[in-house]
Amino acid sequence: MENRSEKLRPCLGQLRPYVAGKGFTEISRKFGLSPQDIVKLGSNENPYGPSPKVAEALRTISPERYPEPEDLMAGLWGYTGCPEELIVIGAGMDGVMDTLTRLFLGPGDQTFIPTPTFSYYEILTTLAGGTPVFVPRDCDFQAATELPKDVKMAFLCSPNNPTGNVTSEDDVRAMVESTEAIVFLDEAYVEFADRSLLELVKDYENLVVGRTMSKAFGLAGMRLGYAIAPQWIADQYRRAAPPFFGITCASVAAGVAVLSDLDFMRLSVERIRAERGRLQKEIRSHPSQANFLYIETAEPSNVFVERFLQKGVIIRDCRSFRGAGEHHVRVTVGTPTENDRFLCAFREICA
Ligand code: PMP
Repeated sequence: MENRSEKLRPCLGQLRPYVAGKGFTEISRKFGLSPQDIVKLGSNENPYGPSPKVAEALRTISPERYPEPEDLMAGLWGYTGCPEELIVIGAGMDGVMDTLTRLFLGPGDQTFIPTPTFSYYEILTTLAGGTPVFVPRDCDFQAATELPKDVKMAFLCSPNNPTGNVTSEDDVRAMVESTEAIVFLDEAYVEFADRSLLELVKDYENLVVGRTMSKAFGLAGMRLGYAIAPQWIADQYRRAAPPFFGITCASVAAGVAVLSDLDFMRLSVERIRAERGRLQKEIRSHPSQANFLYIETAEPSNVFVERFLQKGVIIRDCRSFRGAGEHHVRVTVGTPTENDRFLCAFREICA
């Protein structure tokens, strides 16, 4: 076929594709390690997994049927306390953001992105033909609260990936009140933090709070996320979303099961918070309200990460996060045994 590139949308030329954390298979092949000997602390997953009720629930699904979301919506209502009409769901929070940006962003639109942060915001903006306005966070990783004029959407991640800090209620209110833009507050890691700002949605017509079942609930592989939005946005979301919102019988069954066993989730969060404190003390990293730590490295982060990979410990090189520079890594808090493996490698490498 001739002129293939002319058929593609020009915005693809601007796209910096998503870089995911490394997986067991890749590292076991590259370093000749058995997957059981690898500790994966690069993707902010929950090492305790989901409630055991998930395995039970998955045995009862009917894969020949299309998914029905009613029980899931009722579960999310119970968990968040927000009316079902304001809750929207998708294939992970990624899927939710995908639909949401389709409501608001078109060619030439600008979005506000305080860096360093989760890279999918930039990808979605670029794919819509828009332009991200990157504003570096300050030395405490706090985002500017005043938005540039003419911005259509703002993406604020709290706790922020990869830095782990939160934005205060005052700052979120200041940002939302300073603009007509839609502010997307990404609370993917909020269960690990001291508090959520979900209740602010009822005060504003331009604030959407995104959540996920991938982190505290241990369902990353199920791809299930949701958001709480003002009524006018939630209504349009349901019109523009893909059929069945991108959810599956399995993700619905798993979601309903974890929401019926909040004690399990809370216990795993407690364990992870305790271990976060232990790791933070030992390696003197930046404080974090998430299930990961942001660590400055003396040598270039890719060299540092490679040393850990050779020892079978996967951590995340932050060079793919715009604005994180060349000297930061991110380490997910694992089980005590996994964290000991990390600390052991850390002591050897940093000795
Ligand atoms: N937001 C942030 C800040 C994240 O780190 C992630 C996951 N890496 C997501 C959203 C997407 O989560 P999900 O698995 O629900 O798509």
